[in-house]
Amino acid sequence: MVLDEPDRPLAPRDLPDPEPSAGEVLVEVHACGVCRTDLHIRDGEVRGSRLPVVPGHQIVATVLEAGDGAEHAPGSRVGIPWLGWTDGTCRFCRSGRENLCEHAQFTGLDRDGGYATRAVADARFALPLPSGFGDLEAAPLLCAGLIGHRALRMTGDAKRLGLYGFGSSAHIICQVARYQGRRVFAFTRADDIASQAFALELGCEWAGDAMGPPPEELDAAIIFAPVGPLVPAALRAVGRGGVVVCAGIHMSDIPSFPYADLWGERVLRSVANLTRDDAREFLDLAPRVPVRTHVTTFALEEAEQALDAVRNGSLEGSAVLIP
Ligand SMILES: [Zn+2]
Ligand SMILES: [Zn+2]
Repeated sequence: MVLDEPDRPLAPRDLPDPEPSAGEVLVEVHACGVCRTDLHIRDGEVRGSRLPVVPGHQIVATVLEAGDGAEHAPGSRVGIPWLGWTDGTCRFCRSGRENLCEHAQFTGLDRDGGYATRAVADARFALPLPSGFGDLEAAPLLCAGLIGHRALRMTGDAKRLGLYGFGSSAHIICQVARYQGRRVFAFTRADDIASQAFALELGCEWAGDAMGPPPEELDAAIIFAPVGPLVPAALRAVGRGGVVVCAGIHMSDIPSFPYADLWGERVLRSVANLTRDDAREFLDLAPRVPVRTHVTTFALEEAEQALDAVRNGSLEGSAVLIP
């Protein structure tokens, strides 16, 4: 499924098999998770270095062919995440922050991704997956899970955690946070009763209106929904020293707010991309929780419907495409 230009529907297309260069693997895609970032790319809110492009960066696949020097033998199962390539030499790469690499290439944005039957990936960025997860269940771990986990780590030891937007990422991170002994509060649209019920089912102790007051003061909040007005709402919900993490790649404008809402050493920050260390850490943790992903499957040709479902928030958990 190809994005030819932003704001146009993805189109099915027959393309020749990509060929792996040295250090790359050719893979057969078994499942590809649908991320809100894919929707931002499709809508032109996030733009990469090339078009047309095949979106998709939560790829569960089997290696068919390995280029010279590529780790991962044919037959092995790998996960291919958002971070597709880095230069390894810039000041960020050299200081353990490859997520901020100045020349990073992202899967499904700068490199063809997993809305396809086959793909190539730089083998150094393809990850072994925990065996306890089937292909469908593993797909959402690869971005919703591991970038969500990076955001969770940025909240430190916050005991009372608010999750704003209860989609693919929040449904995973709420399970991890509960496992870590945190108390979790889910914030959704006021009338989104289905998401609120789902959040309670997964161990949140409260679920309710994101624009209203929290049931009690929070120590941290993670904002997954791409909605700028949630930023001042979350800052008002956290107490002194509280942290608000914006976990998405794109958000509508943030309205102005009084300095008093930030005062008291409240911290507002974003989280960008992932490092391979984040991935290893989360893929090691997920089976121990154990995380149970809830997936709704779509055929590859139904990518537009899957993206619409993410747009409307009409799914419980994650959407996954099956070639
Ligand atoms: Zn770099
Ligand atoms: Zn993503």
